Amino acid sequence: MAKPTIAIVGRPNVGKSTVFNRIIGERVAIVQDEPGITRDRLYNNAEWLNREFFVIDTGGIDLGDEPFLDQMRAQAEIAIDEADVVLFVVNGRDGITTADQEAANLLLRSKKPVVVAVNKIDSPAMQTQMYEFYSLGFGDVYPVSGSHGIGLGDLLDRALEHFPDQSEKEYDEDTIQMAVIGRPNVGKSSLVNALLGEERVIVSEIAGTTRDAIDTPFEKDGQEYVIVDTAGMRRRGKVYEATEKYSVLRAMKALERADVVLTLIDGEQGIKEQDKKIAGYAHEAGRAIVIVVNKWDAMEKDEKTMQEFTQKIREEFQFLAYAPIVFLSAKTKKRMKNLLPIVKTVAENHSLRVPTNVLNDVISDAVAMNPTPTEHNKRLRINYATQVAIAPPVVVLFVNEPELMHFSYRRYIENKLREAFHFEGTPLKIYARKKN
Ligand code: GDP
Ligand code: GDP
Repeated sequence: MAKPTIAIVGRPNVGKSTVFNRIIGERVAIVQDEPGITRDRLYNNAEWLNREFFVIDTGGIDLGDEPFLDQMRAQAEIAIDEADVVLFVVNGRDGITTADQEAANLLLRSKKPVVVAVNKIDSPAMQTQMYEFYSLGFGDVYPVSGSHGIGLGDLLDRALEHFPDQSEKEYDEDTIQMAVIGRPNVGKSSLVNALLGEERVIVSEIAGTTRDAIDTPFEKDGQEYVIVDTAGMRRRGKVYEATEKYSVLRAMKALERADVVLTLIDGEQGIKEQDKKIAGYAHEAGRAIVIVVNKWDAMEKDEKTMQEFTQKIREEFQFLAYAPIVFLSAKTKKRMKNLLPIVKTVAENHSLRVPTNVLNDVISDAVAMNPTPTEHNKRLRINYATQVAIAPPVVVLFVNEPELMHFSYRRYIENKLREAFHFEGTPLKIYARKKN
């Protein structure tokens, strides 16, 4: 089940990004920045009443020098394509403007659920200013103040009512759900076509299926696979689709439903900043990851090329040290046969459960070889370890003083766990919790 999405639409300066920041709120602050991962603030995860969802600030997707109304139109289209609920932000102090009316017309025609936030209503005395917005035609309107954090609860309550019902897992437990992500033109569609065989080309556009994720199942050597959200790759032609930020957004949505993420790099063009950003999201989401260097056929190469390119990837993607790298050509299908066996292996590693006694033996050995750190005459003591989750594996260490668990020692433990068990391709989360 895809995470529900709220998209924020509205003309400039009505307070979209202020409202966006309020909705994603404290979450951002608790996310630790990892070196090498840059973050877009235009889409983020949020939570309200225990329901997780995505929020998109469409105003942040840079559409170049398009005329103002075209930009509005593109924003509304993004919202309509991507969102379960559109949050239409207007400025309560300005009243309805022509641009508001234009956007409203587009949204009304789309039949998407729309919740109107009348922003900049900073005090109860100003609430009368919201009434004229009823005439936009979306039913109830919600007075909010983004900058004061007023009214957002009622607004989100309303938005959540439009979310689709949470359903059960869509596929059989043994089916490997994969997502193919990457910048525009790295070869995502070509790779999917190569995996599916010529006969099942995913080019046709089915009218009316604008945002529904289209998944493509296939079977190989007795293993069931699903490539999720191939719809995101097929769509062509709208102005915003070629923008890099939109491609990051697509990647985030696709990887949300995947076990294994193939993050594509164009070998001919080399590594770009955007590649790192996209891969960073896959890492943060805790997916199993395979780095695929595509267009191997078009790369100028000698016997050292693969080794050199691998080294470059390891330098640029330090946070993905665990991810295997596959070089191939989706176009000529050269080296394609290497891919699915690796996908299968990393999927298995992602769901690996280590028996508690074995885990504790490995940690005792690790501590014996490299004693735990001390600070102010206090030594970190690891009393017990247990794996509390899979996909990705999460290990909790019960310790005397969690603050003594420094980054470097955590990494040391991680490396030891990776040596002992087959965790290639999967992130591994290690937490220290206080318990004597
Ligand atoms: P965006 O262009 O729609 O993303 O708008 P911003 O979020 O950047 O806000 C535009 C301006 O309106 C900024 O100066 C904000 O500080 C201000 N603003 C946003 N929300 C409120 C609000 O609730 N009350 C008041 N008084 N100002 C606000
Ligand atoms: P997407 O935007 O990531 O889905 O990329 P496409 O699959 O549409 O491919 C973009 C372009 O790269 C097309 O012109 C493809 O023919 C080309 N392409 C894709 N894979 C390969 C490859 O392995 N080798 C070469 N030489 N070109 C490729």
